[in-house]
Parts: sequence; structure tokens; C-alpha cells
Amino acid sequence: MYNFNSQHVIITGGTRGIGAGLTEKFLQAGATVIATYAGNDEAAKIFKEKFSEYGSKLVLKKFNVANTSEVESFFNEYDKTYPSLEVLINNAGIRRDNIVASMAESDWDSVIDTNLKGTFNMTRFGVLAMMKNRYGRIVNMSSVGGKLGLPGQANYAASKAGQIALSLSVSKEVAKRNITINNVCPGFIETELLKDLPEEQVKEYKSQVPMKRFGKVEEVAHAVLFFSSKEASYITGATLDIAGGLNA
Ligand code: NAP
Repeated sequence: MYNFNSQHVIITGGTRGIGAGLTEKFLQAGATVIATYAGNDEAAKIFKEKFSEYGSKLVLKKFNVANTSEVESFFNEYDKTYPSLEVLINNAGIRRDNIVASMAESDWDSVIDTNLKGTFNMTRFGVLAMMKNRYGRIVNMSSVGGKLGLPGQANYAASKAGQIALSLSVSKEVAKRNITINNVCPGFIETELLKDLPEEQVKEYKSQVPMKRFGKVEEVAHAVLFFSSKEASYITGATLDIAGGLNA
């Protein structure tokens, strides 16, 4: 549907779950994709083999988005390797659920660091790369949880709401340079991120969704490709729910 020929796309957390689905769709649309991950080498290897037909159009990089010097090194190497950066998808994310009274400080920190500081780190260097060509598309993988605030997710909800607030500021800073930044807010999507949920909770969550089912990765990917396309040229600072009616 979209044409990303000759475009370069960075997708954080691009080897599993929603990110893997995004990588696949961008490859099919002609992009060169740099898919990053944190530490699951096995999943990355299987993923790379599955898409070996794309050769050098699929590159995997391992680093922690929350670690500023690792992100800086990644972009230093990126700048030496590629002529431009057209699309950045801030998709890497984690959950560490607990009610606030029992939430360990380390669980607060790791979720905020990965989801929000990671988005800041990647956006900061990504914007610099995009400014050179006065063009860019950034999409944050936020969550309806950032607007609804599910119980047990104070850390996650704060990080996801923070991504939206960050995008509102950044959109105003970079609009003149043809760089847009938008958010998608998936509801419950079938990936490993939800694999630890007890069966009873899955039933309860599905009953809350007006469409009475969890979403599929492809259903998120289509919206992300739209925001990333040249055609979405007058949309910035926007947020789209992809949640089967579970909108905030
Ligand atoms: P997932 O299947 O658990 O995959 C997460 C990906 O992020 C993995 O590739 C992981 O790398 C990477 N990652 C995690 N921490 C990282 C870090 N510190 N640095 C770099 N990469 C890191 O998750 P998902 O369900 O696809 O979720 C993707 C995004 O969608 C997240 O931001 C999540 O909050 C959001 N979201 C998901 C849902 C849902 O229902 N699934 C709903 C709303 C929003 P490794 O493979 O190395 O671990």
C-alpha cells in the first residue's frame, strides 16, 4: 500500500512482537530496516533467518535504548553507514506490573528508563539525523494504558503518557523542518508482552474490550506505516487508539 523504497527505518524492539510485525511490513514496502533489540539473541537470530531473502536491507543491532552512551554509539555508526534517516519507530518497551504500594523502586525505574527515557534518547539523536535532510517521521508506540491507567500499571501508564507529552513538545520544535512525531496507542495486542497474564485476567480484559478480542500485530502495523508515510505530511503531535473500542 505504501512505498518506502530508498528509505531507512529504525525500529527499536524490532525483532519481536509488534516491532517484528512492523519490520516485516516496512521490508515488504521496500525500506531498509535497522531493527534493534536489547538482549534476546536467540529471537533475533531466528528473526534474521526468517527474513534472509531481504539480505542487507535488514540489519539487526543490539543495545539498550535506556543507555545514553550506547544510543550515541549506535547513531555514530549509523551516520557513517547510511546517507539519511527517514523513519524512527520508538517501539521498545517493557512492563513490570504491581500495585503502587508494593511497587519496587527498581520496577518503576526500569519501566520509565526503557519506555520513556529510551524514547527521549532515540528521538534526540534521531531528530539530529533527520534535520540534515529536513525530512523525518517519528512514531511512538504508546498505549491506551497511558490514557486509561489500568490498576497495577502506575509505572507503565506514566511512561506511556510521557511519550505522548514528549511528542507534543517535540512536534512543535521540529515542524518547520518537515519532521513529524505521532503516537499510536494499542490496546491489548497478542504478543509475548502479555504472556505472563493469568487466564482469568485475559478473560476479564477481553470482556472489557468492546470488540471482545485482543488485537493482532498487523492491525497496529497498518497505522504505523500510515503515520510513517510521506502521505501523512500534515499530521504531527497526534495520537491514535488501536484498541477495539477500548478508547480513552
Ligand atoms: P515484546 O513482544 O515484549 O517485545 C519487546 C521488544 O522490545 C523486544 O524486541 C525487546 O528486545 C525490546 N526491548 C525491551 N527493552 C529494551 C531496551 N531496554 N532496549 C532495547 N530494546 C528493548 O513487546 P510488544 O508487545 O511487541 O510491545 C512493543 C511495544 O508496544 C511496547 O512499547 C509496548 O509497551 C507497546 N504496547 C504493547 C501492547 C500489547 O498488548 N502487546 C499494548 C500497548 C502497547 P529483546 O527481544 O532483546 O528482549
